Amino acid sequence: MVKNEKRLPLQKSFKSSSYFTVGRNLMSPLRALDTHVEDARTSKNSVLENEASTNAPYSGQFECETGNYHTFCPISCVSWLYQKIEDSFFLVIGTKTCGYFLQNALGVMIFAEPRYAMAELEESDISAQLNDYKELKRLCLQIKQDRNPSVIVWIGTCTTEIIKMDLEGMAPALEAEINIPIVVARANGLDYAFTQGEDTVLAAMAQKCPERSKNVNLLETTPNNISTASNTSNTKFSKVEEKSLNKELVLFGSLPSTIANQLQFELKRQGINVSGWLPSARYSDLPALGEDVYVCGINPFLSRTATSLMRRRKCKLISAPFPIGPDGTRAWVEKICSVFGIVPTGLEEREKTIWANLTESINFIKGKSVFFMGDNLLEISLARFLIRCGMTVYEIGIPYMDKRFQAGELALLEKTCIEMKVPFPRIVEKPDNYYQIQRIKELKPDLVITGMAHANPLEARGITTKWSVELTFSQIHGFGNAKDLIELICKPLRRNKNLEKNKMFSHSTTFAQ
Ligand code: SF4
Repeated sequence: MVKNEKRLPLQKSFKSSSYFTVGRNLMSPLRALDTHVEDARTSKNSVLENEASTNAPYSGQFECETGNYHTFCPISCVSWLYQKIEDSFFLVIGTKTCGYFLQNALGVMIFAEPRYAMAELEESDISAQLNDYKELKRLCLQIKQDRNPSVIVWIGTCTTEIIKMDLEGMAPALEAEINIPIVVARANGLDYAFTQGEDTVLAAMAQKCPERSKNVNLLETTPNNISTASNTSNTKFSKVEEKSLNKELVLFGSLPSTIANQLQFELKRQGINVSGWLPSARYSDLPALGEDVYVCGINPFLSRTATSLMRRRKCKLISAPFPIGPDGTRAWVEKICSVFGIVPTGLEEREKTIWANLTESINFIKGKSVFFMGDNLLEISLARFLIRCGMTVYEIGIPYMDKRFQAGELALLEKTCIEMKVPFPRIVEKPDNYYQIQRIKELKPDLVITGMAHANPLEARGITTKWSVELTFSQIHGFGNAKDLIELICKPLRRNKNLEKNKMFSHSTTFAQ
């Protein structure tokens, strides 16, 4: 890793600013940089034998501020996963605090009632006066009787961590007794980012996927499962299709089915068939995993799932950028094609057309600046997209980053900066919000993308903000959603521009009166 010489003038102003003065007390930025170099080297040697990646680590400035985490609780993942896994039931094992959080923060959960419940721990549970196994069995039998789901997901909260409740030990015995599979996921407030709740559930679910039998000749066994342009006749395959059919591809990450279908369609256009998704809409459709299966993620916060798939299920990880924005989607498809030995066709034109459709919005945000405080782990992908749109990214705050899993995205970020002739933005892991506020004051970005806690205080100080959580829940993947993505960024800027106009108008009318 080399220190980026081509810093913005902004970086010079940083050096003379309070940033380095205050930062010195905690950890010198250079020392922080060294630590990360070490991390990257040691971790690279340790795990990645299964990874189909040749990406180098980030060449820009990477720092760690050891600030506090300010995340929304990851048990909120229940709110979108119950929709995705249609025949599931989520049992959140926690205290009243968790129950209040789910009820208040996710008022919409009332619609999930048939598919989610709280197992509230009382004083007697915590002091081990009750038998946990018996209590959970009673609840699970009731769930079976009332809802009969095909899988029960136990979400272990902070309290189960603190009292060391052995959920993993109880689940196998209980699932054998009640005859319903139980997935144990410890998605709790001890995590770095709320999106990691989904990561934890998927990593646990990966263990429940069936084993793919070895030496399966897909050409002989599954032509009807995999629909390609040529298998309408069910007999002949082109050479390209034969090549891709001999490799299986499983995508992981939870997306609405329409978006999942769009991404699948993009791959199908290149002759690549997706053999399954983790998670699948129905538990019984979980994909078979094994040594010969390639896996590729669609979101940057799924690093535990990726590790679990590589280490425990021996799958081969395709380390691609993420399909966010037209540039990311093209790079994602291209990377999968390269692993499958396919030369992609028509992607460049497709990307160009999508960019052309965004011209009006791009002209609006071009030259404006953005600052990521760090919240949902989508920051690198979003920053890369916004740099491509012509925005200046002052800082990418990110609560936590798995550099190996995000290697493809980091490489694309660098490539984008080089092509757009802009310096590499500074990435700050685990940012300290106090110092960030100082930097925001100095830099005066046009837009700050931040968690909900900071949005209103910043707005009150005249800084335009965007809730990062909106970007998490909006449909931003694939070519088809690029317009929605850019509009999410334009909206707060337009709104505040209009407010300013109205203010000026009211001032001038007051003056005229
Ligand atoms: S899991 Fe922990 S952080 Fe989340 S609501 Fe429960 S107590 Fe709070």
